[in-house]
Amino acid sequence: MMVSATVETLTHRTLKWLEQRGVIERLSPQIPETQHSFQAQTALTFLTSSWFVLLIVMHPAVLSRLLALAKPRFDVLEIAYSCYVGVVAHDLWFFLIHSQLHRIKWLYRWVHITHHRNMGDLNVFGTADMDPFEAVAMVFSFYAATLLWGAYVVGSWNPWAYTALILLEANMNMMGHCGYRQPLWLAMIQSWGICLTPGVAHAKTHYIHHLDPRMNRALYFSWCP
Ligand SMILES: [Zn+2]
Ligand SMILES: [Zn+2]
Repeated sequence: MMVSATVETLTHRTLKWLEQRGVIERLSPQIPETQHSFQAQTALTFLTSSWFVLLIVMHPAVLSRLLALAKPRFDVLEIAYSCYVGVVAHDLWFFLIHSQLHRIKWLYRWVHITHHRNMGDLNVFGTADMDPFEAVAMVFSFYAATLLWGAYVVGSWNPWAYTALILLEANMNMMGHCGYRQPLWLAMIQSWGICLTPGVAHAKTHYIHHLDPRMNRALYFSWCP
């Protein structure tokens, strides 16, 4: 949680600094930002939902298998490939669950509406501003599944690649919530180059979803409405 608060604060300050120098501009400059600090809802969400992964990972049988099968290799090509496959898999996971949070009206009213309090005033502090149930369903369950896949299906897992995937997910998620029109060089930094892929989501893609929830229900790509 402290890492998330620090990263969001640093990212927000950097983007604000670039805006003040005329390098970037808000997607909707006429709509002022209304949230300028790490949110209580984000803290609550981390505290009440991250235990889900720990509960699975800390099970003695799972933990001993994970430790035995961990193969830390700082191989840039392997890490890049794993991140790309992970991003595509997470996008499908995210899209399927996110769509249900919109299609099933009571789920939207009780769960997903928390995240959609952020509209045109969106900034990076809205990234993890969500209901804890949503965080478990769309993010932490994927992290747990990825670890279990490595331990029980593949037979090994690379802690470097796993950490890189989490960092990339957080970075691209912040990009989708920053509220800025991003030049290519900035998108390249934030997406680690994935922004060059045809059909990839840009800062505007998820911003549009916050303005019109019928649009862009995936996270990293714009392959589905
Ligand atoms: Zn969002
Ligand atoms: Zn939504």
